[in-house]
Amino acid sequence: VLITAARMLHPDGVLAPGWIRVQGDRILLTGRGSFEVVDEPAVEVDVLAPGFVDIHCHGGGGASFMSPRTEEVLHAASVHRRAGTTTLLASLVTAPHAELGRQLRLLREVVDDQVLAGVHLEGPWLNPKFAGAHNRENLQGLERVAVDALLHAGAGTVRMVTLAPELTDGLQAVRHLAKADVVVGIGHTDADEECARKAFDEGARVVTHLFNAMRPVHHRAPGPVAAALTDARVAVELIADGVHLAPEVLALGARAAQGGYVLVTDAMAAASAPDGPYQLGSIKVVVKDGIAKVADSDTIAGSTLTMDKAVRTAVHAGLPLASALRAASTTAARLLGCDDRGELIAGRRADLVCLTNSLQVRAVMKGGTWVPLPT
Ligand SMILES: [Zn+2]
Repeated sequence: VLITAARMLHPDGVLAPGWIRVQGDRILLTGRGSFEVVDEPAVEVDVLAPGFVDIHCHGGGGASFMSPRTEEVLHAASVHRRAGTTTLLASLVTAPHAELGRQLRLLREVVDDQVLAGVHLEGPWLNPKFAGAHNRENLQGLERVAVDALLHAGAGTVRMVTLAPELTDGLQAVRHLAKADVVVGIGHTDADEECARKAFDEGARVVTHLFNAMRPVHHRAPGPVAAALTDARVAVELIADGVHLAPEVLALGARAAQGGYVLVTDAMAAASAPDGPYQLGSIKVVVKDGIAKVADSDTIAGSTLTMDKAVRTAVHAGLPLASALRAASTTAARLLGCDDRGELIAGRRADLVCLTNSLQVRAVMKGGTWVPLPT
């Protein structure tokens, strides 16, 4: 397959005309400039980017990754795949230990990289003070046995954990998980800048939905936000749904992040689904005008985003398109250690998203195969 693009995201982060040739499941060749097509059919697109990588997503299309039904899990993943996400971590919200164990055993049957690339445990090791839409009753302390039991239940599929490092034994847990090759995000946390920095020293490499569910920045108490933004070892997640963050704060975080920013959806079941009542784990959520809130409260409970929309929100907030596309793919792939994707380079997996000039998804390719889109 030959694809020519008016604007293509090149590995140096520049958007320029380019072309790409796919053979089997791999990118065979790429080039800059226009391709002189002689008697060869080519797919012509406006914008070509690496397939999106979403490390924080709880569901979509009315279905949740906490569902005990495999069909629902598959359906949620397919909704995001059609929106351009070719690498997806299923994020599990805080739940009783036994339920998380059961769900990990179910999901590990689905993690084969054709559907899900792994699991992200968001909790149960969070600070009750910043629990957000997580059920406080199910939050737990960081006992090594419990951590290991869940890693074991996942059988290698737990790729990321979000925890609050200020909990008792929090820093040891960061070190232990980082050694086990799990990406550690700090989040839902009351950590100050000193504690955050210690967590980064122990191997935490990302801050989960920066600004949301943590101490805010104060000019004399910088907190985890400023500690993360000024640390080149650390990437920051940003939820670009226009609800979790004001556009100015989104742009500020993105521009300031020394270690790069990662666009995430933090989507719950209502992504690409109608308004109405939903469940986020054991928490009742009401979605109105596409905004998800814990029932009878003002607490935001995940988003209804898909990654294409996150890219559009970032661009509307004033970020350059190339920067937003890198944040939606390259940076997250690097964070996960997936060096076979995230950039349009010969030899990488053929994960592509083709967009129109108004950044609507026109086509998605995963591993060299076009993903069927709804007409
Ligand atoms: Zn969260």
